[in-house]
Amino acid sequence: MQKKRFIAGAICPQCRKRDKVFVYYEADEKWRACSSCDFNEPFDQSDNGQPEEIATRVNQSRLGEQPLAHEVAVEVVKLIDPKK
Ligand SMILES: [Zn+2]
Repeated sequence: MQKKRFIAGAICPQCRKRDKVFVYYEADEKWRACSSCDFNEPFDQSDNGQPEEIATRVNQSRLGEQPLAHEVAVEVVKLIDPKK
């Protein structure tokens, strides 16, 4: 199962559109992709201090808090995992 999390306020480096970039995990690796174009690359957290990291943290649900509206919407989108 893949889980997509959109990065609030992030701008796609390829098509420059805002709020289209999301991260997801595939085979335990974190990837970053755009829902508006074909941008797709490994998300290497250890290799940078990019502001995307902070934005990602904001986008994650915290213990004892209700998920944000857009997070619920993302949860509904489930890609079919052929390995399952
Ligand atoms: Zn894009």
